[in-house]
Amino acid sequence: MTQGFTLWLTGLSGAGKTTIAVELERELQARGVLVERLDGDTVRQGLTRDLGFSKADRDKNIERVTFVAKLLSRNRVGVIASFISPYREARDNARRETTNFIEVHVATPIETCAARDVKGLYAKAFAGELKDFTGVDDPYEAPLNAEITLHTENETLQESVQTVLDYLEAHNLIPVAEAAVSGD
Ligand code: ADP
Repeated sequence: MTQGFTLWLTGLSGAGKTTIAVELERELQARGVLVERLDGDTVRQGLTRDLGFSKADRDKNIERVTFVAKLLSRNRVGVIASFISPYREARDNARRETTNFIEVHVATPIETCAARDVKGLYAKAFAGELKDFTGVDDPYEAPLNAEITLHTENETLQESVQTVLDYLEAHNLIPVAEAAVSGD
């Protein structure tokens, strides 16, 4: 029986965390892996809707998510957590608390994130209409020892997803994909 794990996707807004997480969830489910996806935007509408974007609130946000990831991952669920999670210490705590923690730095440069501006937030942040925006006027502490670093600015979504799947396979955390076509 396979073990659980915690894939922790960290990076700036618009880096590609959610897009990669959704595709990973699909691929893992197709392989019969039990997965649960925890996403910053949806968690902030429920479990942590009382919290804002001060350092204290960002820390509480990640602390609660870590608790959920701990319960799931120790019970053989593959957790895919996608959160900006700008503070190293909070991520290191998630590393200590959860099972088979894998830090995935979605290291898209801010120029690319701002050019994408998926939610129009960078324009507002640069115009000073939105305060405490990570990477603009709030810190982002990049991982120092991430297990996986993804460069979405010069790789396709499928390439990024494959890098993560290869890592999980190599560490025996998921079954190896069956060959698509059998010759005999
Ligand atoms: P985040 O969750 O990090 O805030 P999103 O996943 O919401 O970011 O947005 C990332 C945007 O970048 C999406 O519009 C996505 O289609 C686009 N994108 C372009 N190339 C890639 C890639 N290689 N990987 C992931 N997203 C990409």
